[in-house]
Amino acid sequence: MSPAAAALVDLRSDTLSKPTAGMRAAMAAAEVGDDVYSEDPTVRALEERLAGLFGHAAALFTPTGSMANLLAVRALVGLGQEVLCSDSAHIARAELGAHAAYTGITMRTWAGALDQAAIERMFAPDMGPFFVPTRAISVENTHNFAGGAVLGLSELQRLRNFADANGVGIHLDGARIWNAHVATGTPLATYGAIADTMAVCLSKGLGAPVGSAVLGSSDVIAEARVWRKRMGGGMRQVGILAAAGLYALDHHMERLADDHANARLLAEACGVDPSTVDTNIVVVERADASPFVAAARAAGVRVATVGPTTVRLVTHLDITLADAQRAAALLAKIPD
Ligand SMILES: *Cc1c(COP(=O)(O)O)cnc(C)c1O
Repeated sequence: MSPAAAALVDLRSDTLSKPTAGMRAAMAAAEVGDDVYSEDPTVRALEERLAGLFGHAAALFTPTGSMANLLAVRALVGLGQEVLCSDSAHIARAELGAHAAYTGITMRTWAGALDQAAIERMFAPDMGPFFVPTRAISVENTHNFAGGAVLGLSELQRLRNFADANGVGIHLDGARIWNAHVATGTPLATYGAIADTMAVCLSKGLGAPVGSAVLGSSDVIAEARVWRKRMGGGMRQVGILAAAGLYALDHHMERLADDHANARLLAEACGVDPSTVDTNIVVVERADASPFVAAARAAGVRVATVGPTTVRLVTHLDITLADAQRAAALLAKIPD
């Protein structure tokens, strides 16, 4: 059989993972109710579980991580105020301007994943009718477009101190906080403690088909519940989806370590130093990304272009060690 005829190994994103048989069984068996009435017991169980894991008072289930980010940042930043974030942050690049379009806030960005000195230079106190006041700082852990990089705990703590000293909030986009936790052993509650609000995704490496959550104080979450409904995100017997999230937390968290090992294997095959790969994302730089993507596709491996010179490979629970080994052997043959 030619490589192209073999099943494709699809490394474009960890969103591509499909619910397992065990997860589907848990979904089918879920107890449900009307969640707009707060009467879905499985959703409530998931929300309580997530809040508890991160040491936050409350959580709210959302259809997407983008909505979780939107509700969280909105809770910290008012109309005409700003959030500071990375120039490659999901909230700045991949949410299609939602924060400006729906909640009337502005963003200013620093270069790279986290730059404390830049943040301190950029911070704008409220000076009345002169400058846009900074109300929050948003960080992403792991940082998607920095190759799934884990942010250092001491840097996050320094940022927390700065935020406290200046009376601004911290939002943590923790779509892949599970990967940071598994890669470093840092307790989830330690990450939770540096953030006023958080967004977490169940539908990335954890493998749920749908579902994210916003976390914060009881007041923030009560307000987020109103805004979720306002934005058309009130859902009914959605315990079917929450059950997938609970199942993912029980069964798919520790195995993320396998994804990280598989990512290092792929990195090596593409000439990327595996010690620079913190989690499940490998960023490969080429003079031109397109021929690499096309050659990979022809060989039976799908990878994503995230910039004219940048290719991204992502491992997840549907990529076995054998898949990763096969993809690595094929990618290693593609000339630079
Ligand atoms: C995937 C992702 C999200 C949420 O994306 P949705 O597709 O809206 O669920 C948020 N932040 C980061 C860093 C992500 O990678």
